Amino acid sequence: MRLILLGPPGAGKGTQAQRLVDKHGIVQLSTGDMLRAAVAAGTPVGLKAKSIMEAGQLVPDEVVVAIIADRIDQPDARKGFVLDGFPRTVPQAEALDKLLAERGLKLDGVIELKVDEGILLKRIETRVAEMTARGEKVRADDNPEVLKGRLAAYRTQTAPLAGYYDAKGALKGVDGMAPVDAVTAAIDGILKPSGSTATAAGRGA
Ligand code: ADP
Repeated sequence: MRLILLGPPGAGKGTQAQRLVDKHGIVQLSTGDMLRAAVAAGTPVGLKAKSIMEAGQLVPDEVVVAIIADRIDQPDARKGFVLDGFPRTVPQAEALDKLLAERGLKLDGVIELKVDEGILLKRIETRVAEMTARGEKVRADDNPEVLKGRLAAYRTQTAPLAGYYDAKGALKGVDGMAPVDAVTAAIDGILKPSGSTATAAGRGA
């Protein structure tokens, strides 16, 4: 199974990706996590990405495309993967199409987590407060000022991907404002062969 999760920062992509990993035995490919690891390790890619990420901007397409090309060739990605945070621009999506075609692979779907942007800031503030309370290290770009930039980058550079995949008939939307379990159930419903009597794209509550 090969999926893309699409949605702005704080939409819950990471949480849902992890559940898909557990359920389907696929791997989560998060370019954000990979870039943070590169920054922490001080690799050439990390050195290049650090200040860009801290400013809430996008790392150049060729950098993330190279990372993903490398990663999908690893043995553990053979069973499938869920992409989280990639692609983030139309050129990245085009590069992914090419990578997959060259390998004779197909995407099973693109799932968009639809959220109310006004609420995202609050969600991230809560995430930061919880992490701080647990004594965990907070991401350098998880502060209100940088988050506004990340949301702006999403709106102008990433949101157009919904149209890109919709035109291919690959896009499915779920209500990302629903409780976490309801979002998971909605995604499960989408991934079931013909939807059948599965849980209605439930809204919890
Ligand atoms: P978010 O919670 O903002 O979705 P991520 O962990 O996915 O965060 O990404 C953090 C940062 O890493 C982004 O703001 C960007 O600078 C960089 N990044 C991650 N994925 C990509 C990508 N596909 N293209 C360009 N930059 C990326």
